[in-house]
Amino acid sequence: IFITIEGGEGAGKTTLIHTLAHKARQEGFEVMTTREPGGIPIAEAIREVILRKENTAMDARTEALLYAAARRQHLAEKVMPALKEGAIVICDRFVDSSLAYQGHARGLGLEAVWEINRFAIEGCMPDLTLYLDLDPEIGLRRIEQNGEREVNRLDLESLAFHRSVREGYRLLESKFTERFVTIDASESRERIAENSWIKLESKLRS
Ligand code: C5P
Ligand code: MG
Repeated sequence: IFITIEGGEGAGKTTLIHTLAHKARQEGFEVMTTREPGGIPIAEAIREVILRKENTAMDARTEALLYAAARRQHLAEKVMPALKEGAIVICDRFVDSSLAYQGHARGLGLEAVWEINRFAIEGCMPDLTLYLDLDPEIGLRRIEQNGEREVNRLDLESLAFHRSVREGYRLLESKFTERFVTIDASESRERIAENSWIKLESKLRS
């Protein structure tokens, strides 16, 4: 079973994944957690190139192609084999990030970004996507406050850009109604984990 976690900056994806993986393992499931872009050395190297502060000259289509390339390698090398062995894979970001960020917010169009990703993904789509919905103003403030991670090129985008990302995700919600679930990420960590677990558990038992 393939689960993806989506959301804007500071929405709490990483924290949620830890909690969900822990709960699922307690229930006896085999779980693998991973992230995009990255998860394996080749894709982490591509991530580096995309996120380097110095790479301000990067063209939006180049960026979209690099995300798709990282995605492909990560799927082929890590995700597909794990799914084949029956594991539950929980992935921090997947194709919906590309659709929301590059397709919508960067303006490349959902269709164009979907086209290159269709090639990369080869039909391997998530069974469930939990989208952590949060006002980007709150998310960006959260990141600033806990200062746990290094600032990357994309963190320097305007608030308007991040608002547009959120708008992009909301378009996806109406497009992918069967797999796409929105979770209110303005609630407490505990509530977010609880609400997410309910969705995940019912998928695992179905
Ligand atoms: O999920 P995480 O915060 O690690 O993502 C790293 C950065 O990559 C974020 O700043 C995010 O905005 C950006 N990103 C992007 N387009 C994607 C995926 C991630 O701009 N398709
Ligand atoms: Mg994170």
